[in-house]
Amino acid sequence: MASHGGRYGAGQCQCGGAGRAAEIKRFAVSADLPLKRIRGQITRLAHTPRSQALATVVCAEGYVAPARLGEHTLGASFDFNNDDLTPTVAEHVGNLDMLREISTDLLQRLGADHLPAEQLQGRAAFRCTSPDYLPIVGPLAERGAFDQTYAALRKDARQIPEAPCPWLDGLYINSGHGSRGLVTAPLCAELLAAWLDNEPLPLPRSVAEACHPNRFAVRALIRGKAES
Ligand SMILES: Cc1cc2nc3c(=O)[nH]c(=O)nc-3n(C[C@H](O)[C@H](O)[C@H](O)COP(=O)(O)OP(=O)(O)OC[C@H]3O[C@@H](n4cnc5c(N)ncnc54)[C@H](O)[C@@H]3O)c2cc1C
Repeated sequence: MASHGGRYGAGQCQCGGAGRAAEIKRFAVSADLPLKRIRGQITRLAHTPRSQALATVVCAEGYVAPARLGEHTLGASFDFNNDDLTPTVAEHVGNLDMLREISTDLLQRLGADHLPAEQLQGRAAFRCTSPDYLPIVGPLAERGAFDQTYAALRKDARQIPEAPCPWLDGLYINSGHGSRGLVTAPLCAELLAAWLDNEPLPLPRSVAEACHPNRFAVRALIRGKAES
């Protein structure tokens, strides 16, 4: 989250990592954001003389990257129900299955068909995602006041209320990048910088609105599930 002036302190800036969904929800002002964690695991494979011909990342259901520091990275698993970050053999096997689907030739070049799955090395971490799998980027509003200000939406979703949004002065968020953050996080940082500096947005308005933190509160009002 970024805080810029106002009651959060002039020029102050705070950052919370996307993988830190649980921590973002610990802040009272952002506790209602529907962030959730999804565990993922990558597998590391030592390069071989024949695997070094791979010069670019190859993606299908999974992905495999060219060797870096003597290792290829392949992945990544999705586990919606596991909060433990200890790498599992089952997910290594799943990653190898995805590699097989990408290229049996590459599988052979890496000698991966003959590697004992129990000895595979890797790493697990959490992705931070939103229910619609879009990032959550932009200014934050005070939820209780928001629900009161736009209560008319409960009765008529086509209303466009004119009341100004009760923003939390100077508080912004950039999170929920899920499994695409390497692409979306820098772009959203540009979007946030434009918001903070009152510059033209670097993305179409429709994209910025699709990623706006208020979208969940609006949907909840329309569905009649807003906080009372
Ligand atoms: C297994 C797996 C595979 C993935 N594969 C891909 C992929 O192929 N392509 C892709 O685009 N994305 C992928 N992702 C997702 C991608 O890693 C994330 O979307 C991206 O890292 C989010 O970036 P971020 O800067 O928002 O958060 P993070 O990368 O989590 O960065 C947050 C940073 O903030 C720091 N931090 C946290 N708390 C504090 C604090 N209190 N004070 C100071 N610093 C703090 C953390 O140490 C960290 O450096 C994958 C994720 C996982 C788990």
